[in-house]
Amino acid sequence: MNLTATSTDSIEQELVELEALIARIRARQSTLIGEIDRRQVPLGDGCRTLVEWVGSRLDVAPETARMLARLARCDADSVVGLLAEGDATFDRTVELARLAEVDTPPVGPMLGFDIAGLRRFIARKRRVEKVTEQDAFDGRHVVMQPNLDESLWKLWGTLPGYEGSVVDQVLTARAERFPTPPDGNSLTLAQRRADALVAVCQDATGGEGGVTAAVTVFVDAATAGSSAGEAGVSIESGPRVGPKTLERILCGGNVEVTALSAEGEPLSIGRRSAVVPPKLRRYVLWRDGGCAIDGCTSRYRLEAHHIAPYSEGGGTDADNLAAVCWFHHHVVIHGMGYAIDPDSPPQRRRFLKPEPGPDPP
Ligand SMILES: [Zn+2]
Ligand SMILES: [Zn+2]
Repeated sequence: MNLTATSTDSIEQELVELEALIARIRARQSTLIGEIDRRQVPLGDGCRTLVEWVGSRLDVAPETARMLARLARCDADSVVGLLAEGDATFDRTVELARLAEVDTPPVGPMLGFDIAGLRRFIARKRRVEKVTEQDAFDGRHVVMQPNLDESLWKLWGTLPGYEGSVVDQVLTARAERFPTPPDGNSLTLAQRRADALVAVCQDATGGEGGVTAAVTVFVDAATAGSSAGEAGVSIESGPRVGPKTLERILCGGNVEVTALSAEGEPLSIGRRSAVVPPKLRRYVLWRDGGCAIDGCTSRYRLEAHHIAPYSEGGGTDADNLAAVCWFHHHVVIHGMGYAIDPDSPPQRRRFLKPEPGPDPP
């Protein structure tokens, strides 16, 4: 059909008229489907639900079948009337039928809202329903499930709307306060929020040094002194930690490290010297006056990091220590694998890119 000679106004008018025609057709369909429902035809045909029956017999998508079934079962006369009289489109009438499920529907078609606005209005109505609110409160839970050796934890759960938004806002605000990692913005929002959750919890422990007080780490003496360290170590309370975590723990201030012989006997080989003594730590933090990374102004949970790793022979002395903020220390250095360039000036430390791993980038 050639429409070049047709005016835009009449095209628009015809479109609107066709939508009204669809509404009248759907109105008739929903009346017929209502009758099918009353006769319990779907059950007799072996369908579990009316939606399933409509979807299969009319060859329509489940969403369309749901809309038709909803209208067929809507017993608010004002809603059904609007559709039959052509005073509201099919989509608008479906929304009004949803409204009728939670509230008394208005007599008119609510033309003050577009369909999206109508949906938001109904969502608000649903949310304040007392029963739903009580369910959300009663169903609140957080599950933390460790794997067998506690090297990984899974978290999930649900929170009521208000409480959920409190947690969401705190995590987002904390994540946004973290500096940008050296490679730009490679961290996903989910990763940043995971870091934020840990940071918030560490604030609650009140301890300094990034590790909870009085954690004892048992190190396999045969591997702890080498960069291998892959044998892993166990923290007294249970979790098995890998070499990355061990390096981070050795930067912390409140950890007692016990070395074990190959037979598992405790050895006294002075590993405790790896942990930065409080006096030295205070000096390094004072000397650097904040995070030593070039451009970082954070003073959040400053920690003294070993520039040359302890496991590679780096000493626990002021020259080999740099004050770094929690994010740079925990996430960028010990998490993402960046190292501090030992040749960079002490108060303007720069990063060296991580060594490429076994997998190609
Ligand atoms: Zn460190
Ligand atoms: Zn920093």
